[in-house]
Amino acid sequence: MQDKIDLLRHQTLEPQSLFIGGDWMQARSGATMGVISPLDGRRLTTIADAGAEDVDLAVKAARSAFDKGGWSKATPVERKKVLMKIADLIDKHALELAVLGVRDNGTEISMALKAEPGSAASTFRYYAEAIDKVYGEIAPTAANVLGLIHREPVGVVAAIVPWNFPMMIGAWKIAPALAAGNSVVLKPAEGASLTLLRLAALCAEAGLPEGVLNVVTGRGAVSGEALGLHMDIDVLAFTGSGPVGRRLLEYSARSNLKRVYLELGGKSPNIVFADAPDLDQAAKVSAYGIFRNSGQVCVAGSRLLVEKSVHAEFSQKVASFAASMKLGDPLDLKTEAGAISSEIQLMKDLSYAEQALAEGAHLLTGGKRILEETGGYFMQPTVFDVEPSMTLAREEVFGPILSILPFDGEEEALRIANATEYGLASAVWTSNLSRAHRMVRGVKAGVVHVNTYGGSDNTVPLGGVKQSGNGHDKSLHAFDKYIDLKTAWIQL
Ligand code: NAD
Repeated sequence: MQDKIDLLRHQTLEPQSLFIGGDWMQARSGATMGVISPLDGRRLTTIADAGAEDVDLAVKAARSAFDKGGWSKATPVERKKVLMKIADLIDKHALELAVLGVRDNGTEISMALKAEPGSAASTFRYYAEAIDKVYGEIAPTAANVLGLIHREPVGVVAAIVPWNFPMMIGAWKIAPALAAGNSVVLKPAEGASLTLLRLAALCAEAGLPEGVLNVVTGRGAVSGEALGLHMDIDVLAFTGSGPVGRRLLEYSARSNLKRVYLELGGKSPNIVFADAPDLDQAAKVSAYGIFRNSGQVCVAGSRLLVEKSVHAEFSQKVASFAASMKLGDPLDLKTEAGAISSEIQLMKDLSYAEQALAEGAHLLTGGKRILEETGGYFMQPTVFDVEPSMTLAREEVFGPILSILPFDGEEEALRIANATEYGLASAVWTSNLSRAHRMVRGVKAGVVHVNTYGGSDNTVPLGGVKQSGNGHDKSLHAFDKYIDLKTAWIQL
């Protein structure tokens, strides 16, 4: 497989276009943006920089396709066939898609293969298989009335996604929205548009009617804002940062009150008790839980809480594991942590490390930029012992930096774990079953892993509480975002 990857890594990429109403086109203004590869800092290609007029065209195409009914009124079984075909095409082109994505955003290929095309194909399949098993309801009314509850597509869905796992997160939104019969306008992140444009081409090849999926690339502050403010979008599903999430809520209030679902950031606590079943395994999984994809994972276990009696020993284990990870060329199958997605992000990560030192945090390993001679953006996995009040213990870095905090007993563990504005993911490591259940109840987060970190599949929802967002991706619950309930009250 490495041979094939090495062939694909040098492929020249054509300038990219917008995908609107089944056609590929440039932005009306003709504006483009350079795509810089984090592997070597060189320009890969360009993407179209859509303006509000392009967004409007895409929304019109989506609405027109919805109203025509070719997709929205197709039977679930007909939609299922197309979605299955999309999944098959993703599988067929998996290696090409994974390499393309890695060149664009720097994720190590071993992870990208599973998390990007692998996950996207399985997500399309999951919702394809599910959609003809979702029933309406008959309400338990009086006998002289029939109360029917219909499930209907909402109409036009806008999906705005980040750069860390564009295909996976894109599919989490597009697949259930399409399965339910909606039209979609997708806005990829500036730094990771290429695989989603390719996905749009595969959707067309699979027979998805024109206008049902549209892709507008470009700057969030321009095309993203235009989507947020558009008067003809019914639902906006977003994954990204808290500040942009707040703006989207404002845009909704200033426009048509479109429903806004937010999957935002986290500062997820990974809590290790001294009675964890296997401390070596816990250290290895905890390191992977923060350092894969260089920490650019929304659910990354970025706060490691360790019981005092094993704190020193366990911190050392995690730091040595981090220091031994194979870093570098993201397109090498053996690499365990690839590149930081952009130079701006790298500088942000490095400044968090500097600030931690300035605030008196104790550096256990890492902290430096590496492989600068490649022109790419790489940073060592970095581990700090911190105090709860330090910046690093509170703010989401979204990079390869782990903060370790000691605790004494369950009560203190919960107090520290929950002392954050976020509530996305978490974990608890213990051999005590009752304690595990108490902690699952006590930690305020969308997911609590027990004796592992980061496991998941399509069958379980992913979503945050507190300022990590609202609504859920994945599982049958994701349909709730893209389906409206309609009551028919029939007097008999
Ligand atoms: P970001 O918020 O900067 O960008 C996300 C998307 O929003 C991009 O497509 C961007 O172009 C767009 N955008 C930017 N400004 C906008 C505006 N004014 N109006 C509309 N759209 C705009 O986030 P990012 O840097 O791409 O991603 C990192 C963040 O995403 C982190 O906080 C991370 O935790 C979060 N994230 C969350 C999850 C989750 O499932 N909860 C998953 C992955 C990433």
